[in-house]
Amino acid sequence: MKLLLDSTRCQGYGLCQEPSPELIDLDEWGYARVRAAEVPSGGEDAAEAAVAACPNSALRLVK
Ligand code: SF4
Repeated sequence: MKLLLDSTRCQGYGLCQEPSPELIDLDEWGYARVRAAEVPSGGEDAAEAAVAACPNSALRLVK
C-alpha cells in the first residue's frame, strides 16, 4: 500500500498529520510531506485516517 500526496492540491491545513504523525510531516508552512510512500506494516489504519482527514483530497492510497 502506498500513500501518495498530490502537492498541487495541498493547502497546508495540516489536518492529515494529526491522525498519522508516523507517516506525515508538516513543513514550516504546514504543508504535508509523506515520510515514505510505502506504508509500513501496521500503518494502514493511520494512512486511511490521513486520507479521510484531508479536506482537499490531496492524499490517496494505492493498493
Ligand atoms: S490535510 Fe490535505 S491539504 Fe492539509 S496538509 Fe494534509 S494533505 Fe495538505
